[in-house]
Amino acid sequence: MTRGLYAAIEAGGTKWVCALGSSADGVVTSTRLPTVDPQSTLAAAHRWLEQAAHTFGPPRALGIASFGPVELDPAAPHYGCLLDTPKRGWSGTDLLAPFRAWPGVPIALDTDVNAAALSEQALGAGRGLDSLAYLTIGTGIGLGVVVHGRMLHGLLHPEAGHLTPRRAAGDTGFAGICPFHGDCFEGLASGPALVARLGHELGDAPDDHPVWTIEADYLGQLCAQVALALSPRRIVLGGGVMQHAKLLPALRARALHWLGGYLPPLRTAAAMDDYLVPPALGQRSGILGALLLAERA
Ligand code: ZN
Repeated sequence: MTRGLYAAIEAGGTKWVCALGSSADGVVTSTRLPTVDPQSTLAAAHRWLEQAAHTFGPPRALGIASFGPVELDPAAPHYGCLLDTPKRGWSGTDLLAPFRAWPGVPIALDTDVNAAALSEQALGAGRGLDSLAYLTIGTGIGLGVVVHGRMLHGLLHPEAGHLTPRRAAGDTGFAGICPFHGDCFEGLASGPALVARLGHELGDAPDDHPVWTIEADYLGQLCAQVALALSPRRIVLGGGVMQHAKLLPALRARALHWLGGYLPPLRTAAAMDDYLVPPALGQRSGILGALLLAERA
């Protein structure tokens, strides 16, 4: 196996995963790098991929699945650059710069959540469905959408985490942490929002802590809004916050409540169990999505 592999980067807010592989071979070799400053992180990813290419042969293409917001329009002057991001120091970073010099290696770029939606649709929880949405609830709240095998872009890319919810019952004292909107979904219900509410890390919050009731309500509202606005066949929920085992059943019940019986296929708890699901590819949906992006480059 010396030729025919693809290179992939899943560029996240806390870690970057770099890999060589293909959808047929899976991930052949990979590494995790901590997300530090842009220059060091990009240099480390570039160095690792160069070394991997030395061992396995030059990649046929590179797929990058990045946290956003990021310019995805190849015709735009800042194609491949991160836009204004709350992540300190990263606004304006050109994610493609170190890799443009690779001869004959085309680059495909998309958001990490669009890539996760792509891999779950092709290989995971959305197999056989013609549309799929992927919501990640972690450092931020992101939405990726695949329709008939294509990721949804346009003006930018979906940014449903910045929609504004109705306030959950009893959630009166917390202003939210989004630097743009305060109490959008991301400002109220992302991982950092939960930590700000609690004053300590999530792992230390017991199952019966009232914060989980509030969280389930917001995530249920968000799923209901995505179902109403985009009508995906299924919604996959991933990200660090979703590791809390009791959250998924609780948010399904709240989504059912907020839909109010309006969508005929989603009128029962059993239908909701099949509609709102965890990622079938687990933690690998992002990097596998980046490999699929490379294969389409
Ligand atoms: Zn916001």
